[in-house]
Amino acid sequence: MAWKTLDDMALKGARVVTRVDINVPVSNGKVTDATRIERIVPTVADIRTAGGTVVLLAHFDRPKGKVVPELSLEQLVPTLSEHFGHPVQFAPTLTDAKAINLKDGDIMLVENTRFDPRETENDPSMAVDLASLGDIYCNDAFSTAHRAHASTAGIAKLLPNCAGRLMQVELQALEKALSNPEHPVVAVVGGAKVSSKLDLLGNLIPKVDQIVIGGGMANTFLAAQGIDVGKSLCEHDLADTAREIMAAAKAGNCELILPIDVITALEFKAGAEATTCAADACAPDAMILDAGPESVAQVEAVFDAAKTLVWNGPMGAFEIPPFNMATDAAALHAAKLSKAGKLLSVAGGGDTVAALNGSGAAEGFSYISTAGGAFLEWLEGKTLPGVAALES
Ligand code: ADP
Ligand code: MG
Repeated sequence: MAWKTLDDMALKGARVVTRVDINVPVSNGKVTDATRIERIVPTVADIRTAGGTVVLLAHFDRPKGKVVPELSLEQLVPTLSEHFGHPVQFAPTLTDAKAINLKDGDIMLVENTRFDPRETENDPSMAVDLASLGDIYCNDAFSTAHRAHASTAGIAKLLPNCAGRLMQVELQALEKALSNPEHPVVAVVGGAKVSSKLDLLGNLIPKVDQIVIGGGMANTFLAAQGIDVGKSLCEHDLADTAREIMAAAKAGNCELILPIDVITALEFKAGAEATTCAADACAPDAMILDAGPESVAQVEAVFDAAKTLVWNGPMGAFEIPPFNMATDAAALHAAKLSKAGKLLSVAGGGDTVAALNGSGAAEGFSYISTAGGAFLEWLEGKTLPGVAALES
């Protein structure tokens, strides 16, 4: 590991400037989902237990470099205090943050970093201002690590730095899954469009042994092989690209697994009549909305033989039942293998996490990333500035 953790730092008596993601959903002044706050509790607790002081930096929504009172982080203070089991002091400005008197074990939250236009510009003067608030920099916001901002990248160069507990767990899971995995490694790449997953496929082909192509993406691959996919969601203009991807996979000894059978309907709505047919037998007026049972059985057999699974993108239009069938069945099977210690499984992506939560498979997975864009960029093999800045 090229980065340090809290265990490597001298925390006693130190002010630890800690970047967190507390961009939680708020409705009528109430936090409606505190998951992101729950996930930073170990970092805050460990700094305090070791005798350090916690100075929290975070953004909230997109104020675009202006002070937007409705987007003040002050509204989160009661929820944060409750979860940390200790009162959180609030600093409306950086000047206040310097002036507030803190004892070892205290917690201070600094106002929305994005109220200052210098944050997203990664302006060095902002990094200096933020670094002046403490002695150590700790980044616990993997979900913002794909942005090179003053509070995620610039500041890291100015103080001794380390990853927080959440960042540490996330990076370790991702490294185990793709940087240094146990083979065979299988990836499930699903979702709506091939066009949004080109970089991802390009990065995965040399690294994994099999890729299960699911969702609307699979239709583009079927069509590129001359199969009539009727009125299915399909990027016909990407036929050449799909054929190039198939050729690259073949050359790289990566097996692409396409659906054998599919579930179709004439309409994309709840209660629409669903028909199961072979993948090359979609009626001209029908849409492929999910993979069929034979495809699921094939995917399950691939999972059985695998040691590592990386998953992004649902295998069907899971939002509308019964087109969640393939995603749910395959995910529950992966969860069962993971729980039995036979498979290391990592999944991420907005819709993927929603699908896995909906089926109840999420709790069985080895790691579920809620980092969204940062997880995708990592899967695409891109350098994440917030992680790179930690590497000394
Ligand atoms: P993630 O957010 O996990 O990265 P994507 O956004 O790439 O996933 O893909 C999710 C979307 O793909 C969902 O809205 C789902 O309905 C859609 N989808 C999957 N399969 C199909 C299909 N066969 N036809 C139409 N839409 C599909
Ligand atoms: Mg999505």
